[in-house]
Amino acid sequence: MPTASILGESDDHVRMAARLLREGELVALPTETVYGLAGNARLETTVRSIFTVKGRPLIDPLIVHVHDFSQVEELCADVPPIAHQLAEAFWPGPLTLILPKAPQVSDLLTAGHPTVAVRMPAHPLARRILQAADVPLAAPSANPFGYISPTCAEHVQESLGERIGWIVDGGPCQKGIESTIIDVSTPGEIRLLRPGPLTGEQISEALNGLPVTTPAATSSDKPVAPGMLTRHYSPHTPLTLVPNGQLPPAIPPTAPEGSSAWLATARPRADASSPAYTRYWFSETGALEDISQSLFGMLRKLDQAGHSHIYVELPPSDGLGLSLIDRLNRAAAR
Ligand code: AMP
Ligand code: MG
Repeated sequence: MPTASILGESDDHVRMAARLLREGELVALPTETVYGLAGNARLETTVRSIFTVKGRPLIDPLIVHVHDFSQVEELCADVPPIAHQLAEAFWPGPLTLILPKAPQVSDLLTAGHPTVAVRMPAHPLARRILQAADVPLAAPSANPFGYISPTCAEHVQESLGERIGWIVDGGPCQKGIESTIIDVSTPGEIRLLRPGPLTGEQISEALNGLPVTTPAATSSDKPVAPGMLTRHYSPHTPLTLVPNGQLPPAIPPTAPEGSSAWLATARPRADASSPAYTRYWFSETGALEDISQSLFGMLRKLDQAGHSHIYVELPPSDGLGLSLIDRLNRAAAR
């Protein structure tokens, strides 16, 4: 079985990844959110191959990753002042801005939208590669469309290793969920399209309290952002969500004992009433940042462990917890 070659963080490997990318090859690389499947955003055939490799529908636009502001200006001729303010506050970091696109940006990249999604990632290795490649990189999450996003190089290898040539291993992702997407393309409106590591409150605070609106969730027919599809980030194993604090005694297991797994937000105290279940937890303490970091990795691990059903305890619904609940709702949708 062919597998992708793994590159590391040496200067030689960074130069090699950058050269491959400039020449139009696809390279999976680490970012602080999740691993991305990167390709030269200026090359139409490369952009097309990203969709093909992921099995991603062409209606689902890609995020372009940049190293500096001059690359933003290549993609967006007239950057709104609000975008400058947000970039100042959060870049490099887990924030994607939806901006009016420059005429030369390909419709394939933007799925025909008059807007383009742009992000300046913070991961040091991603930044070195972007700088050396000296081209903007289109990079959706490095997973087959609809499946759980990858948060380490092994995840990429196991699901795309036969379809791509190179993976840059930068260790586990620090944030663990995809970037927060903010649409600033409509004057006078700031819209949160996808919750992520940065919360709506943090965005609003950086803009001195300007309101940030959340458009009503769309379903499949006309997604503004496919991260907004009802079903996404999904394991193959049926997944049921349980309210915070109600795991496990309230769950009537539909499957034979032992075959369902339950996944708590924090390490449960030893509890004699629940020994029949296989127990897992996202985090020792239940800290939201830790849950975020391990969210997709734990879902993958349990999905591959042969359980008939996975029960997941929801995190508390405030701050980053809302972003995690968003991902879990989509993972559980059928
Ligand atoms: P992924 O990179 O797989 O996490 O997905 C990228 C996300 O950015 C998707 O949900 C896209 O729909 C969203 N996105 C990219 N470009 C645009 C755009 N022009 N307008 C709205 N959303 C976008
Ligand atoms: Mg994705």
